Amino acid sequence: MRDLLLLVPLTALVACSGPRPTASSTPAADPTRELALMGSDAVLWQNASAEAYWIYEQAYEQAATKLMWNIVELAATYGEGQPRKPMAVIVDIDETVLDNSPYQVEAIEHGRTFDPQDWRAWTDKAIARPSPGALEFLLHAHQASCEVFYITNRETAERASTLKNLIAHGFPNADEAHLLLMDGTSDKTERRARVRATHDVVLLVGDQLRDFDERFKDRSVNSGKATVDALADSLSKYFILLPNPMYGTYRDAVQGKGTEAEKHARMKEWFQRNGH
Ligand SMILES: [Mg+2]
Repeated sequence: MRDLLLLVPLTALVACSGPRPTASSTPAADPTRELALMGSDAVLWQNASAEAYWIYEQAYEQAATKLMWNIVELAATYGEGQPRKPMAVIVDIDETVLDNSPYQVEAIEHGRTFDPQDWRAWTDKAIARPSPGALEFLLHAHQASCEVFYITNRETAERASTLKNLIAHGFPNADEAHLLLMDGTSDKTERRARVRATHDVVLLVGDQLRDFDERFKDRSVNSGKATVDALADSLSKYFILLPNPMYGTYRDAVQGKGTEAEKHARMKEWFQRNGH
């Protein structure tokens, strides 16, 4: 069954003979639909697999352990009676504390890729369920005297529906002061700095490495893996990464920007280049 849906575009590649097809020589009949199908295994896995479910639970269990270590270590850096900043945990929202895989499933079902209007229709409903383990972990962190800040690239127009969704499940600190939406840039560096100015940040959680450091946006050298190695110590101490094969920087780096036809062509080229 694996990659069954991927077989359509891949078979087309295998069937080609002669010079390697280029982006312009093998245009897809319906690039949007084919791009959507290229993501179908990822969406199926994220939405329906017990493996994804357990990886989330496992990651949040590890988050609780790291949180405790970091709280103890931070306390030791303060002298007796020295005034302290409040502690904070920073989390992303999508595919970190809320599960949007039902939106992705519906998109695949209709042969569609990400569409801002479809996305808004989904977030307006405010019905996303908590990611496995997320709510329990954040309640635990809050009990351990950490404020929770939600730094998300949802837009400011999604503020009310996002808060409604978080509040409905009882997420701690689900209020305007703790929700930092995208305001002009997807780069979260400045928003993280704003939290750090007033709080000691003891842990960050996200489904993208960029939820920890913007340097992970650059995937030009070895798909960004050298940056992981370079930042491994701080990643290991302060960051919990959750799985999300459905979308993100890894796929954007291959697809690039432009029309769906251009993105589809780049995806096909990637498969051609990276097979053995
Ligand atoms: Mg996310």
